[in-house]
Amino acid sequence: MRLFILFLSFISVFSVNAQRNCTSALHTAMPVISSQSNSMSPEKIITIPVVVHVVYNNTAENISEAQIISQITSLNADFAKSNNDFSKVPSVFAKLAANTSIRFELAKTDPMGKSTTGIIRKKSTRMMWTDDDKIKYLANGGSTTWDARSYLNIWVCNTVPGLTGYASFPGADRAVDGIVIRYDAFGSVGKVVAPFNLGRTLTHEVGHWMGLKHLWGDQQCGDDGIEDTPKQRSGNSGTPVFPKTTACNSTSDGEMFMNFMDFTNDASMGMFTAGQKTAMRTQFEINGKRSTILNSKALAPAWNNNMEPEILTVNTRDIVVYPNPVQSGNIKLLVNTNLGSNGKNYAIISSNGQIVKTGHLLEMEEDINVQSLAPGIYQIRLTDIASNSSTKFVKQ
Ligand SMILES: [Zn+2]
Repeated sequence: MRLFILFLSFISVFSVNAQRNCTSALHTAMPVISSQSNSMSPEKIITIPVVVHVVYNNTAENISEAQIISQITSLNADFAKSNNDFSKVPSVFAKLAANTSIRFELAKTDPMGKSTTGIIRKKSTRMMWTDDDKIKYLANGGSTTWDARSYLNIWVCNTVPGLTGYASFPGADRAVDGIVIRYDAFGSVGKVVAPFNLGRTLTHEVGHWMGLKHLWGDQQCGDDGIEDTPKQRSGNSGTPVFPKTTACNSTSDGEMFMNFMDFTNDASMGMFTAGQKTAMRTQFEINGKRSTILNSKALAPAWNNNMEPEILTVNTRDIVVYPNPVQSGNIKLLVNTNLGSNGKNYAIISSNGQIVKTGHLLEMEEDINVQSLAPGIYQIRLTDIASNSSTKFVKQ
């Protein structure tokens, strides 16, 4: 019911004007700014490995590599305060602005240790996506999340009208942790459409992914918990003119509508503050909710050069698992059998005969998460095929 109401509200409120909307606030119920001691130098460069899942229904949505790279470039410029339109930020606010010393790079190595471009392309029969996280599951026609402890997952797709993007906050369920962005609000070339054509939808959502709130804290005259951002009446949109004062402001400088965590057009935005920088970097401190990303191997050279799937005990050659043995994360299951339009069920059975996991296959090649399995030998079997196709694999 909630989704239905949400969907209606998107249609009725946002389809007429090109107005930014971000539903990230619906994706958290937790305090997002933790108070921890900062042991890391504020200038130490933090590099975030990124995987972009392009989930498309038509060729326009299957955006070019150039468009993806333009997005990574503008994201890095915004986070480094090297965006070439920073000069438009009024001086009273420019002096509060910060280079976050946080960078982004497309992943070089996938969760199985194989070389990757950091871009996954997945054709889907689904034409439009809401903010219900379904795009993060293969079974829904989406693309499976790569281990969110090691990757910033970004899905690019066609969203319902008016939804430019949404993010999960630090501490989110790992299976759905990441950011969804509309394909025509992603990057600065290719299929982008003004006024969200400078890549700032992602800059804003990455702010959420690192724990930042909207400047108005999603409350009338609210606050984001950051000291150097002024209070704000509500979300600004379009192209406000400085100074924009409301009854919520205590100074004549008014609202910081050019902050990336507002709702203004891409061309009206241009800065994070020093306070926002500190809050974001806190997530990467020891025990911070994003600290695991610092140990990611995603930017290291590929370490699994076993190009051919290894075939162990195979009852038929219809089903293959790799890597085998598997240490953590996902196995890839290749099935050389027609799964039909409804797919097939599978079961993973431990060496003492217990069914430890079941699932449904829709594709001839699928990733199955076996992280939770204890070390041992397992059989994986298609349970509703007469031949009972099965094979064994080892979890280490
Ligand atoms: Zn937002």
